[in-house]
Amino acid sequence: MEEEYIDVNPVTADVESAAIANMTPFEQIKYAAKKFGAEIKDPKKNCKHCHGRGYTGARTTGEPIACRCIYPDMNAATKHAYDNRQQVPRNRKERRLALKSITAKSVRG
Ligand SMILES: [Zn+2]
Repeated sequence: MEEEYIDVNPVTADVESAAIANMTPFEQIKYAAKKFGAEIKDPKKNCKHCHGRGYTGARTTGEPIACRCIYPDMNAATKHAYDNRQQVPRNRKERRLALKSITAKSVRG
């Protein structure tokens, strides 16, 4: 009985990563979305987060961070879940406020 191997061509993988490296960050996001079967919209031209670029920055790995304006509109259920999730402190001011409320509670309790 012959063993079968999945044909993985390392050259093709190299060509693919080289092609991705040559793309603009938004093209990279589009490419990744297509690969994972996700739907994304064109970036909003007057978006206050990305200014129409479709991404807000890049990770240290070079992977672009997609802007929220390119995601499809949320339906009522998704929006409800999103609005009711726990607020995560994002900056120093919010962290201090969160810490204050926690310590105040523990002193009283
Ligand atoms: Zn945006």
